[in-house]
Amino acid sequence: MEFCEKCGGIIIVQEKKAACTKCKAKLKKIPKIELSEKVEKKESIPVIKEGSETIEPIITMDCPKCENKKAYFWTLQTRATDEAETKFYKCTKCGYTWRKYR
Ligand SMILES: [Zn+2]
Repeated sequence: MEFCEKCGGIIIVQEKKAACTKCKAKLKKIPKIELSEKVEKKESIPVIKEGSETIEPIITMDCPKCENKKAYFWTLQTRATDEAETKFYKCTKCGYTWRKYR
């Protein structure tokens, strides 16, 4: 909601015209209507989807979050060809996901 700069009255916007309901002052600038839709943030780490048919191999790896010593393991090749693949781990117990470069 927009308010009048002069009197603080509520500004109504109708068909490209904005005016104060209190002092009738017309606004040259039409207040922008902000989009309420939230832009989803892209996950930096690919997450194993629940119910996915792909079964990741489980290896012995110490979880940095809990006492569990088993984790799902998968790799992902980065865009740059000269870069080494990134290794991903996901704890089988708490679900914590981390990665390692090599
Ligand atoms: Zn864990």
